[in-house]
Amino acid sequence: MDRYAVIGNPIAHSKSPEIHAAFARQTGQDISYERILGPIGGFDGAVMQFLRGGGKGMNVTLPFKLAAFEIASSASERAIAARAANFLRFDGEEIHCDNTDGIGLVNDIEQALGFVLTGTRALLVGAGGAAQGVVLPLLHAGVATLTISNRTEEKAHALVAMIAHAAPDAKQRLQARALPKLAGTRFDIVINATSSGLNNEAPALPPGVYAPGSLAYDMVYGKGATPFLQHAMAQGAARCSGGLGMLVEQAAESFFLWRGVRPETKPVLQTLRQQLGEPG
Ligand code: NAP
Repeated sequence: MDRYAVIGNPIAHSKSPEIHAAFARQTGQDISYERILGPIGGFDGAVMQFLRGGGKGMNVTLPFKLAAFEIASSASERAIAARAANFLRFDGEEIHCDNTDGIGLVNDIEQALGFVLTGTRALLVGAGGAAQGVVLPLLHAGVATLTISNRTEEKAHALVAMIAHAAPDAKQRLQARALPKLAGTRFDIVINATSSGLNNEAPALPPGVYAPGSLAYDMVYGKGATPFLQHAMAQGAARCSGGLGMLVEQAAESFFLWRGVRPETKPVLQTLRQQLGEPG
């Protein structure tokens, strides 16, 4: 039986073991998947211990995504662009890293929610690790423009500069803008990549950002209609979604990269929604 794990701190709340167990049952893969509480300051040691104990790969969550990128001996294009990784695959002592958050978001938006990103005006709120991971995949999905806004404005500019460096062809479509300066600019999709919802808060979006037919997407999950989604509905967003689908889709991409088999995400997402009491 091949061993996998998710490492983070804290980790008890992680749904990844349930999701991967469901994928394994569905596809007949003989794997185990455990939670590992990574010691702060001891991430590398915990990864090497798991690898030398026969582990085949790991998912990585807060606060180790940067450390996961740094420990790897090779990295995918999307991990290089994000300078952060949530996926590790071991081959002997070689460690390959990837970032499946962005493709997870894109797959949830396009396949599960049926919202076509090509040609849309997209707004990404936040400039932390989660935002870093999704910029390149959103550009690859064909958004016409991608505006990044963050409470701490300099971080949005730094993120634009970082991605423009990794993907020079993106320069014309990507820009950073201060939150108050968004007033009156309409977007087809607004993605909240801040952790504000965890504290029952919303980013300070000005009125008038939701175009007719627009989608509001909050990466936070398991919190019902977050203040960001409540604000979006009041401001005229046509559709709203939390980030549970992204969680399941990024896991499916990880499973595929490890096992070469793509699991069906819909039934797993439905079960999770029921467990967390989220509307379908
Ligand atoms: P992070 O690196 O700590 O970044 C936090 C971001 O949130 C920063 O941009 C920060 O702005 C902003 N922020 C925090 N509180 C805010 C508030 N009250 N108002 C406005 N902005 C606020 O965290 P992260 O890794 O990017 O994760 C962000 C969220 O995405 C987390 O809630 C995480 O659970 C979620 N996430 C979900 C998935 C999924 O699969 N659904 C995957 C990855 C992440 P400043 O720069 O101004 O501090």
